[in-house]
Amino acid sequence: MSSNTTNDTLAKARIAVLGYGSQGRAHALNLRDSGLDVVVGLRPGGPTWAKAEADGFKVVEPAHAVTNADLVAVLTPDMVQPKLYKESIEPNIKPGAALLFAHGFNVHFKQIEPRKDIDVILVAPKGPGALVRTEYERGRGVPCIWAVYQDVSGHAQVKAISYADGIGGGRAMLIKTDFKEETETDLFGEQAVLCGGASSLVQAGFETLVEAGYQPEIAYYEVLHELKLIVDLFYEGGITKMLEFVSETAQYGDYVSGPRVIDAGVKERMKGVLTDIQDGTFARNWIAEYNAGLPNYRKFKQADLDHPVEQVGHKLRARMPWLQPNAAKPAEALK
Ligand code: NAD
Ligand code: MG
Ligand code: MG
Ligand code: MG
Ligand code: MG
Repeated sequence: MSSNTTNDTLAKARIAVLGYGSQGRAHALNLRDSGLDVVVGLRPGGPTWAKAEADGFKVVEPAHAVTNADLVAVLTPDMVQPKLYKESIEPNIKPGAALLFAHGFNVHFKQIEPRKDIDVILVAPKGPGALVRTEYERGRGVPCIWAVYQDVSGHAQVKAISYADGIGGGRAMLIKTDFKEETETDLFGEQAVLCGGASSLVQAGFETLVEAGYQPEIAYYEVLHELKLIVDLFYEGGITKMLEFVSETAQYGDYVSGPRVIDAGVKERMKGVLTDIQDGTFARNWIAEYNAGLPNYRKFKQADLDHPVEQVGHKLRARMPWLQPNAAKPAEALK
């Protein structure tokens, strides 16, 4: 749909953006530049209040922002959303208003059971907030997925599409999904491939080389550092581009050894991970862990931070200043 839809549907609407982090800031700035009326809702004394004010927004407490809003975008961390909903949104959101999420976790797993008299929608850009903003500024946009969970006004779909237009997504591509698909695929991707799969693959590769007597510094470059070059090729042109840019030797090794490492057993276990996501086991465990104060999370995290690939990584990264573009220059650091 064209950006006219935005003007038609949300033109007279007041939008409350709760949270001003990666997504919140980008959404608020883009919506405002699309001519929409945006107020930012944050905890007083929170870390991003001053930033939102410096960007020229009216900033108020969440409950205040929600009152009178026609659309409330919930862009705080996922685990604080149920409490925020109970305390600030549920008692204040207008009947017929829209409640918008960028991730379906809390609604899909029933940590938030939205009031029956409001629309519930989802718009999730397929990129980090910084890119959502810079692409918008260039006159382009980042593709968005969108969904409707509850439609009481009869306009929930148009509201979702209009919001996606307002943040620039309509200039690129909008893909319809539902809360279940968005939530389950997001969790699966980060667990099996992006975060869990990739970090475990790197650690196993590093351990294999070091245990065979190779230097940790050399192993670090081969299995972690150079991963960026490959991922950039994936990102720009998929596996096709990666195969175009690596040597014939690397390709042949990929064909014969890749399937030995990532074999049918891996895929079977990926299906197990997906089942735990689908049947709610993962969500139940994660919510219990969060509510218990993150004891295992902290242990797992410390083990990752203490892994030998990180020990050597700290040392090597300190000698590659281009990896810390925002770090103080040596001359400044000496002052
Ligand atoms: P973030 O951690 O970058 O920012 C969170 C913001 O919420 C901060 O401004 C923080 O001060 C504020 N905040 C924290 N607790 C609060 C409270 N109780 N009340 C009001 N404000 C509070 O978060 P993010 O990464 O932008 O994620 C926001 C949502 O977007 C999540 O649902 C996430 O799953 C989703 N999402 C994120 C990305 C991404 O690239 N980061 C991509 C797609 C979807
Ligand atoms: Mg994701
Ligand atoms: Mg996620
Ligand atoms: Mg790991
Ligand atoms: Mg090499």
